[in-house]
Amino acid sequence: MVDIYASVDLGGTNIAGVFAGQDGRILGEKKVPTQSHEGPEAVLERIAELVDGLAQEIGSRPLALGMGIPGLADLKNGVTKFLPNLPTQWRDVPVRGVLSPKIGCPVYLLNDVRMATLGELTFGHGRSARTMVFFALGTGIGGGVAVDGKLRLGPLGAAGELGHQTILPEGPRCGCGSRGCLETLASGPAIAAEGVRLMLSGLAPKLHELVRGEASAVTPREMAAAADAGDTRVREAIVRAAGYLGIGVANVVTILHPDLVVLGGGVAAIGPLLFDTVRQTVRERVGMFPTDDIEIKPSLLGEQAGALGGIALAMKGGLLPD
Ligand SMILES: [Zn+2]
Repeated sequence: MVDIYASVDLGGTNIAGVFAGQDGRILGEKKVPTQSHEGPEAVLERIAELVDGLAQEIGSRPLALGMGIPGLADLKNGVTKFLPNLPTQWRDVPVRGVLSPKIGCPVYLLNDVRMATLGELTFGHGRSARTMVFFALGTGIGGGVAVDGKLRLGPLGAAGELGHQTILPEGPRCGCGSRGCLETLASGPAIAAEGVRLMLSGLAPKLHELVRGEASAVTPREMAAAADAGDTRVREAIVRAAGYLGIGVANVVTILHPDLVVLGGGVAAIGPLLFDTVRQTVRERVGMFPTDDIEIKPSLLGEQAGALGGIALAMKGGLLPD
């Protein structure tokens, strides 16, 4: 009989639940719509049902639950503070207090991207790294930093917001209130918007063919395929965005001299064109020490990084701010 832990990732659209053993082997998983408009109480009830359903399926209850949230929380008390993209913003919702008695085990919270970083650190490439930097390249750009094998959280669990470093001082306005953040230049939507613009201007015939002219079907992955098929302007757009990302990575490399940089999330699916450009930019921009030994890799866990981070969080009995 192995010890079983649970992980829940609370997203704006879906709640994803996973049960796994201590070795990170996934034993069961389930996804339900968040329906966040119904408010925190209804959402927490749905999470409890999700955990109960998985427990029945597997025939065993978890020892603890690690839960990723899209925002800030009081980690010590398991209370959400600010989830900017959910209705009511979940200010002071006592998630642990409500959920623990319902599911019969302790509940620990962590920002979702820090949780993915913890997953990569515990079960992914980070296992053999001393200092690891994790970029989550998706709808936004999140991140996390682990120094000497320990996730660096800061007083609010907010340390590691790598997507909000300034890359272009006069660049586009960012959701965080600043401008020219990495996120405005190299997130999935930022890259796709440029692909759509090129396609609608008639400058991306291969991309047009691939998505049948459907703007909503343009993703960084489709753009990479179009670039491979010969769309030079699309290739240039990807290289430009990857160059901005490379500057962001080079900044962090200069500050921390990590041995490992992991690029996860949907944008990483661009593949070699992204990774090679980032590596080259780091070589060009970091002049103070050799960077040849710094590994820049895709996530080993891919989409499971968050889920397994929740398992690691549950195993650790939660994390406290620094
Ligand atoms: Zn920003």
